[in-house]
Amino acid sequence: MITTIYICDRCKHKQKGHHTPRQMWEIALVYDTPTLSYTHSPLAVRQKQMWCRTCMEEFLILPSTQKPKPPPPPEPPTLEDIIRELIIHTVEEIQS
Ligand SMILES: [Zn+2]
Repeated sequence: MITTIYICDRCKHKQKGHHTPRQMWEIALVYDTPTLSYTHSPLAVRQKQMWCRTCMEEFLILPSTQKPKPPPPPEPPTLEDIIRELIIHTVEEIQS
């Protein structure tokens, strides 16, 4: 049995399948100008890389599949905050 391991050219992530839900993506930089076409250049083919889904999402080439993290819970009051609140409350009671 032969197992092919795909390795991300950017982060070196390894996975067995190419067509899994987290498939690898071939990526290359190509451009055309009125006088120069890089798209059909042999350099474009040589500089093609394979990136994992995580790298594609990190560079915003694919939409993120990660759920946003919930905001952190508020910080509990410090002892100083509690003492300050007690003093304010006590002063307000005395004045009323
Ligand atoms: Zn990667």
